[in-house]
Amino acid sequence: MKSHAKVVVVGGGVVGASVLYHLTKAGWKDVLLIERAELTSGSTWHAAGGMHTVNGDPNVAKLQQYTIELYKEIERISGQSCGVHITGGIMLAGTRERLDWLKMAKARGRYLGMDLEIISVDEAAKLFPLMDKSHFTGAMYDPIEGHVDPYGVTHAYAKSAQIGGADIVRQTLVTDLKPRTDGSWDVITDHGNVHAEHVVNAAGLWAREVGRMVGIELPILAMEHQYLITGDMPELAGRKEQLHAIDFEGEIYIRQERGGMLMGTYERAGVPWSEVTTPWDFGQDLLPNDLERIAPSLEVGFAHFPALGGAGIRKVVNGPFTFAPDGNPLVGPIRGLKNFWVACGVMAGFSQGGGVGLALSRWMVDGDPGADIWGMDVARYGDWTTMAYTNAKVRENYSRRFSIRFPNEELPAARPLRTTPIYEKLQAEHAVFGDYCGLEHPLWFAPSAREAEDLISFRRSNAHPHVAAECKAVQNSVGLLEISNYGKFDIRGPATAEWLSHMMANRVPAVGRIALTPMLNGRGKLIGDFTMCRVAADHVFLVGTYAAETYYMRWFERHLPASGVTVRPCAMEYVGLSVAGPHSRALLQSLVRDDLSTAAFPFMSFKRMEIGMVPGYVGRVSFTGDLGFEIWVTTDYQRALYDLLVKAGRDYGLKLFGGRALNAMRIEKSFGSWAREYRPIYGPFEAGLDRFVDFKKSEFIGRSAAAEEKDSGGALRLVTFKVDATDADAIGDEPIWHDGKTVGWVTSGAFGHRVNHSLALGYVPAALAQADAGFEIEIIGERHKAHRLTGAAFDASGKLMRT
Ligand SMILES: Cc1cc2nc3c(=O)[nH]c(=O)nc-3n(C[C@H](O)[C@H](O)[C@H](O)COP(=O)(O)OP(=O)(O)OC[C@H]3O[C@@H](n4cnc5c(N)ncnc54)[C@H](O)[C@@H]3O)c2cc1C
Repeated sequence: MKSHAKVVVVGGGVVGASVLYHLTKAGWKDVLLIERAELTSGSTWHAAGGMHTVNGDPNVAKLQQYTIELYKEIERISGQSCGVHITGGIMLAGTRERLDWLKMAKARGRYLGMDLEIISVDEAAKLFPLMDKSHFTGAMYDPIEGHVDPYGVTHAYAKSAQIGGADIVRQTLVTDLKPRTDGSWDVITDHGNVHAEHVVNAAGLWAREVGRMVGIELPILAMEHQYLITGDMPELAGRKEQLHAIDFEGEIYIRQERGGMLMGTYERAGVPWSEVTTPWDFGQDLLPNDLERIAPSLEVGFAHFPALGGAGIRKVVNGPFTFAPDGNPLVGPIRGLKNFWVACGVMAGFSQGGGVGLALSRWMVDGDPGADIWGMDVARYGDWTTMAYTNAKVRENYSRRFSIRFPNEELPAARPLRTTPIYEKLQAEHAVFGDYCGLEHPLWFAPSAREAEDLISFRRSNAHPHVAAECKAVQNSVGLLEISNYGKFDIRGPATAEWLSHMMANRVPAVGRIALTPMLNGRGKLIGDFTMCRVAADHVFLVGTYAAETYYMRWFERHLPASGVTVRPCAMEYVGLSVAGPHSRALLQSLVRDDLSTAAFPFMSFKRMEIGMVPGYVGRVSFTGDLGFEIWVTTDYQRALYDLLVKAGRDYGLKLFGGRALNAMRIEKSFGSWAREYRPIYGPFEAGLDRFVDFKKSEFIGRSAAAEEKDSGGALRLVTFKVDATDADAIGDEPIWHDGKTVGWVTSGAFGHRVNHSLALGYVPAALAQADAGFEIEIIGERHKAHRLTGAAFDASGKLMRT
């Protein structure tokens, strides 16, 4: 084994092999993969090899498409067959909700360029004759589903990488990883050591163990998974290979395997494997079968596909594979560790392995993944993903693999975990809570405990009238909202302003003022949106998206100078309450000595104040678009502040409101939000944030790319639509049509209660951004007329916020 390499990839499963291949393809030839046994010695060897393009996250779906298309390339380079069988697939719906879900998936596929088709039960039965039609209501057909040979794919990647210059060492166990002061690594193995500039953890079933070598606990857990292969069936004799099918009601996937059928299931009572440590002596082993555990699914399978009942079982496979809490991969650099990368938690290696390898290799070679991979960035998780949390969430995710997630559905596992001091008080007011990074936050308030439940639906739900009342209270009197679930950063030191000015696109505000700002990467794309609150010359309180805290910190730390400025995340040290609406000033004024008039405390002011006995920061901003104030206090004061505001609020018609109302109101104002309107695929001009990019100040990250975007105008434009919707509003990811063609996609939608119509925000080609007519938005399979608005639906001039 060589003693030095630019990169050592730990693990020779399908993911490690793909990373290795993509690194050589990106031009890094001095790369070495170390595998403790033979290639495929983890989950990979016993996988069913199924692949599909559909994924809840459109950006992950694109990488899945890429993976499937890649097989021809690696077969050609390596001469190794991947055993690709593109059979096409159908997804069978047994309920109206499932058919709605399929229609939505088809609509989303439309703007991703996927050729999905909704078909009738009769058409489905022609394609998949084994099904009993009486159990189904419709189906979706996907022409590019199929399966591959896991061994063939892994070896095709590996050989292609070797042809590209990579080395592969087998039968060598990486036992430790030791950092050097220059950021490189000593990779310790049982066959000698390698000095590497970069290390990639692609250790699959052992990714946790390899993570522990560098002091991190990755949020992944392996689950046992079983599939069976039937004996030969006379029904299949002489037939050409059938399609893949997913039967959602049975939670079953099924396909032909030679003369019989292969059927697997994600059972409700899934069982984790090796919950704390993965044994090193586990190799190309299988786990004992437990057909009883999957009996309920098999029973449904035999009822829905009766011929299977008589076929007998030829083989059962039970093997473990790993999941992250949300079921998507963990990819990217680890915050706080130099040159240490992960590509693990990949539960669908044959659909996702190629995309993971592509994104990671670009990230390593170019410093940027080159695509929007927020959905699989390892930095989407933070401290709350303890081992027990991960365990609960992975079990839930596994059991729901084929379940519908409704837009208003909050999942119950691992809850409540994190709560703010006023949690019980909000509960007593019949709050319906959502889970955000493990933190409970109020979504809406019901009139009674009995009604404090979301009835899940794709259409307007039982919460609709209550959210309407909350919005009206903000419009007509004053609303009180808990805003603790924002990310907060305390930035201090003499170089604070200079550093922030380099990091952010907008100018750093004067002391006592607030400025909104996009953060751009080197390609001029949006990687964050923040509120900068200038406390003092050398102190900024920065507010952003909490879910992206680790993602932001990773970026900040990469760009921090050796001295002069420190950044400390303090999301849970400062919790918040916001008051908004025409009476919000009078209410707050009754509790503070400072003058809150517009003359003394204009829009975008920020000041330390005493609210009654409570010290806190008060900012004159509101995401509702109405007159409003955000108040940040340390956690110990939140309860007292809440009591104070509620008591004083009685005289001003105060009503509690939650995240649903806030979402509707920010859409009425055309205010974007992170991971929806603002993502690394959009530039600031496309996103309508141009007024927050200051070219007059000194150099900042992304400046030249942003200037180019300004000159060219960008390819896309964020537009607000009024939608002629009936009983369902857009929620995000619906296609936008123009003159009969799909031209864009919705990023957010809601019913705007203050303006009394349905609204959507979405991106369309810049050339169409001024079109007055011809737009439609497809909601649950039906196209609704959409009217482009030239400004925000609510208070377009912004007068209410400012006066
Ligand atoms: C029963 C079953 C059915 C499945 N069906 C499908 C399917 O139909 N479609 C699909 O896409 N996916 C399927 N999967 C999932 C799929 O197998 C995984 O997504 C994929 O194999 C993950 O690959 P990996 O490279 O991340 O991990 P692994 O395959 O676990 O590879 C990790 C490798 O790293 C090596 N390694 C670990 N630690 C070290 C170390 N310290 N030193 C050196 N080497 C080390 C291991 O020996 C191993 O070879 C299935 C899985 C199972 C169990």
